[in-house]
Amino acid sequence: MRPTMSVVGFDYDYEFDETIALVEVWYDHESKIWTIQFKNANGDQIGAADYAHMKSQAIKTAKTAMAGKGAPIHVTDRTTGKTKTITPEAVPPLPPVETALCVDCGVDTRINGYVNRVPRDTGIIDGYNCGSCNDAYEAAQGLDHTLYEKYEKARHTEIDAMFPDAPAFREWCQRDTNENLSDEDKKQIQALVDNYRYEVNR
Ligand SMILES: [Zn+2]
Repeated sequence: MRPTMSVVGFDYDYEFDETIALVEVWYDHESKIWTIQFKNANGDQIGAADYAHMKSQAIKTAKTAMAGKGAPIHVTDRTTGKTKTITPEAVPPLPPVETALCVDCGVDTRINGYVNRVPRDTGIIDGYNCGSCNDAYEAAQGLDHTLYEKYEKARHTEIDAMFPDAPAFREWCQRDTNENLSDEDKKQIQALVDNYRYEVNR
């Protein structure tokens, strides 16, 4: 068995001769990346590792590769030492909802924060980080985290006045990507994004 090669981030061409018994997803503190390893029943790594910058991406990759195949996925955050086991669904997860909205503050990046925006996929929503959130996040790196929290609070107030649906959208962005997106959830998010209100005069 082999995962689809369309999954972003695979280093090498996988050639699995053995059955995958376990997938391990873990955080490497040094490189600051999430690593996905496919293992056989003896715990030996089969093929090469895959890497992702974000946990949600790493989990998505593992779930996509293992959907319908039954091998459990162990997700370990080596910073906290906590391991969580995920059982992939019998059917592949629904693709995320695509949008131009910022998954951090909820701004429509076509209207505000277009410059320096970066694509960001939460696993449920495939959107962006607006230029403003991205700049603030980078500026706060290695510094006191309260700096970003302060920015976030002010930014949310500003954005909510312009986009009344932003709080509801941010709630979806916060959803744990280990949860499965149901058809109904997807419909709701899609409707929210399609009818996203913009108070132009505020
Ligand atoms: Zn933003």
